[in-house]
Amino acid sequence: TPAFANIKQLPPDPLFGISARSKADKRSPKVDLVLGAYRDNEGKPWILPSVKVAEELVKADPSYNHEYLAIDGFKTLTVAASKVALGAESSVFSENRIVSSQTLSGTGALHLAGVFLSKFYTGNISSVNADTTISSENRSKFYVSKPTWANHIQIFDSQGFDVKTYRYWNDASKTLDFEGYLEDINNAPSGSIFLLHSCAHNPTGLDPTPEQWIEILNTIKSKKHLAIFDTAYQGFASGDLTKDAWALRKGVEILDTPIVICQSFAKNTGMYGERVGALHVVLPETNEPLLSAIASQLKKITRSELSNPPAYGAKIVAQILSSPELSEQWNKDLVTMSGRINKMRALLRENLEKLNTPGTWNHITDQIGMFSFTGLKKEHVERLAEKHAIYLVGSGRISVAGLNENNVEYVAKAIDETIR
Ligand code: PMP
Repeated sequence: TPAFANIKQLPPDPLFGISARSKADKRSPKVDLVLGAYRDNEGKPWILPSVKVAEELVKADPSYNHEYLAIDGFKTLTVAASKVALGAESSVFSENRIVSSQTLSGTGALHLAGVFLSKFYTGNISSVNADTTISSENRSKFYVSKPTWANHIQIFDSQGFDVKTYRYWNDASKTLDFEGYLEDINNAPSGSIFLLHSCAHNPTGLDPTPEQWIEILNTIKSKKHLAIFDTAYQGFASGDLTKDAWALRKGVEILDTPIVICQSFAKNTGMYGERVGALHVVLPETNEPLLSAIASQLKKITRSELSNPPAYGAKIVAQILSSPELSEQWNKDLVTMSGRINKMRALLRENLEKLNTPGTWNHITDQIGMFSFTGLKKEHVERLAEKHAIYLVGSGRISVAGLNENNVEYVAKAIDETIR
């Protein structure tokens, strides 16, 4: 067909490709450490008890129906979500400095941020007036950590950003390349965009220390860069919503430029497929006309792309966040998930150390969140799949949630065999 003559076949998404190979493998034991979704100790998906109750309450409400939400979503959700991220007592609320829109989970929030910033962010342009339009040549530079969640790159690349990387992971020491990170912030043209992982960095599991964060944020401030905080693991990392929001809230305190927050409820409520998320834009000072203009532009984008966001998961999360009892249960659920993951980190490290597996393994317990960057190389990853039916991403990233008491020793022994 001439009309479609230049459509080329793409390779499968690398992550979903490995997952497909893992699914097709019928050997036993088999261990899937690819997918970034929580599993219980039996390796099964887990419906959070708080979600179960909230779902029943939502359905039992006499006003329950399947009507459309507003273009910017369910306000009860977006307001409550912004308070989860920033803390209800934040001056952002008393000073009316935030605008929020419900999005298709974290990915949708990142996408909406990308479309919005590509149209309106004038950061790298030295003199700006009301008629300044942003051409692809003067679009601001966009920086992501090296490495980062692979989707970050294609989400912003597809909005015409030239996506560059800042140094993050030092492969030799398995620690943060802090000097390199600061240097790259300093060397970026003033007004560039920096995408930051609020906590539980994906894929490395390595977060800056509080002292390092303060220096990172102050350096971003001194260069007048714009920070996007990708908040996909709040509460899931440490089990404590406040602790996991520390860097984000510090950013809001330190930075004096607008801040963009892309929030996902996929991991911390276990409702991956319901696509609950929000985009928040925080201004450094009160400016109601600007806030209102931003809201109108976000709505215009959403209207043309999805008309209005999905309602079901939004109602469930809103139910949890507006009930003190359910919020308390949710907090317990977060401790259950993060506690099990941390236990698996400890067990994997313990088993490897017991086997005297070559190398050091403290990084496994130093890291936090869903993932661990093990330091395993491509050839190890291949051998683990071929010989042991253990699947992980080529970078050596494992989803710690795929480990449980029944398979962790098997995995440690296989890693040991593979490395020797
Ligand atoms: N950001 C990061 C860093 C992630 O790891 C993920 C999920 N893997 C997301 C955003 C978005 O996830 P979702 O669209 O499912 O909310």
